Amino acid sequence: MEDLTSYPLELTGPDIPMVRFLNVRKSYGELIVLDNLNLDISPNEMVTIIGPSGSGKTTVLRMLMTLETIGGGVIYVDGKPLTHMPKNGALVPADARYLRKARSSIGMCFQHFNLFPHMTALQNCMEGPVQVLGLSGREARERAEELLMMVGMIDKKDQHPSRLSGGQQQRVAIARALAMRPKVMLFDEVTSALDPEVIGEVTNVIRDLTTRHSLTMLMVTHQMGFARDISDRVCFFFGGKIEEQDSPDELFSNPKSKRTQQFLSAVK
Ligand code: ADP
Repeated sequence: MEDLTSYPLELTGPDIPMVRFLNVRKSYGELIVLDNLNLDISPNEMVTIIGPSGSGKTTVLRMLMTLETIGGGVIYVDGKPLTHMPKNGALVPADARYLRKARSSIGMCFQHFNLFPHMTALQNCMEGPVQVLGLSGREARERAEELLMMVGMIDKKDQHPSRLSGGQQQRVAIARALAMRPKVMLFDEVTSALDPEVIGEVTNVIRDLTTRHSLTMLMVTHQMGFARDISDRVCFFFGGKIEEQDSPDELFSNPKSKRTQQFLSAVK
């Protein structure tokens, strides 16, 4: 097992990142999916990951959601270890109870929205706050209505998901994730399963989050125009590593690495 004694029990200091991947490794058998990944995301920063299929993009998000076991290294969120917990002055792999609590600081929206089909839009947004955070029905309803208003879905609050378009369902899914007041929001290809004509309504909601709300976000997308438009920083992944990262203007207009250049010219 990896010697974890050199990893801090928590991050301290004035400029701690909201998310830190420190030497994070992940493999499936022989296949190395994340190869000593180091990535910091500042509070309120929007970071986008782009890269070829199989380069490890989704795995980064799944690790942050603690849906995958970690093969090496430590992930910190808001200064505290996410994947590990302190015990007798050292970090040890987190147990189920620690993980349950730690992961409540992360919100995620997937390509497939996974709304609860038997609940209305409003009930979908109230379920987590009532069941997990222990809010009263009234508090949860107020919070849910405010968020459904924000994503432009208040008129449809009493509809079940099957009566909503894909774009509308995705907007409800964003409101549902935000209702848990996460410190970090993850977006995994949220527009890939949508019809072209409704993509804009979802990207507008995410754009709105970046400009009007303070939230740390990590997004995986194939939409280069969108990534360029809303990100503070873009990371190009290749073979489980960050091949190149920069401001969107710099990375898209003036990519330094041959691999980034090849990727960008192929997706244009
Ligand atoms: P991306 O999102 O960049 O397309 P992924 O993070 O989904 O890439 O996957 C990275 C690599 O890990 C791929 O080669 C994929 O086949 C492999 N992989 C992902 N999940 C599993 C799994 N549960 N078992 C085995 N291999 C996996």
